[in-house]
Amino acid sequence: MKVATFAIGGERRIGVVNQERQTVAPFDLAQQAADRGILALIGLAKLPPLLNPIPLGEVTLEAPIPRPVRNIFCVGKNYHEHAKEFASSGFDSSAAQGTVPQHPIIFSKLPECVVPHRAPVFLDPGVSSAIDYEAELAVIIGKGGRRITKADALDHVWGYTIINDVTARDLQGRHSQWLIGKSQDTFGPMGPWAVTRDEIDLASTQVRCWINGEIRQDQSTAALIFDVPTLIATISEGITLVPGDIIATGTPAGVGIGFKPPRYLVPGDVMRVEISGIGILENEVRERAA
Ligand code: MG
Repeated sequence: MKVATFAIGGERRIGVVNQERQTVAPFDLAQQAADRGILALIGLAKLPPLLNPIPLGEVTLEAPIPRPVRNIFCVGKNYHEHAKEFASSGFDSSAAQGTVPQHPIIFSKLPECVVPHRAPVFLDPGVSSAIDYEAELAVIIGKGGRRITKADALDHVWGYTIINDVTARDLQGRHSQWLIGKSQDTFGPMGPWAVTRDEIDLASTQVRCWINGEIRQDQSTAALIFDVPTLIATISEGITLVPGDIIATGTPAGVGIGFKPPRYLVPGDVMRVEISGIGILENEVRERAA
């Protein structure tokens, strides 16, 4: 099931997407519940009834979880080729761990940086001159817990979505900790919707990213250094995960920093991230007005 959060007539709704028919059927939910996006469905024993489908063209998609319950967990250097390209970039403040990390590198993005499909991502030349894209599969936790075992981990997953972990490389390097470089306003495109976990086979899910139609990233999640169960087990070892938590699993090789010279984003660039089984998340880069 594909579930979108969207706006129509000034109100937020959530509903089931039918891609063939290009419609979305809203759940019959109170406004207060729908305002939470798909968080409203997580943990429900029974899904609410569906109302009549609406053409997708008549709604404005919002991020599936417009305001995450807390910081988004993110994973650094979680594909081998990307770990190499980042380690050789000169911006890698985690280099002491070696080119390929022995343990998952976990950092976070602030919830307020989340923006939906088609929303602009703003570059502020007064703050950063090295902004990059990172296509990623994101896990949405359905059932919380502490000390979740790898064997049980996927039972705790509600579903998946796409996150573009937009990053200011110069800030990421300068401040050692990555939070500032990863959490700039609008640096968290998420969408276009979420899918329930049964729709994704982690052994063969392709993560792709194009910039202005040129393919830059193209790899299967089968190539993750630390797989989804390992990430859930690692984070939950001493941190209780809660329903609605999001884990962005890391990006494949092909980010701008990997090119010589680097190919950073410039105003007018269109970032298109596609993950098989989910959909396409597209965002244009614009310069922030002074
Ligand atoms: Mg990332």
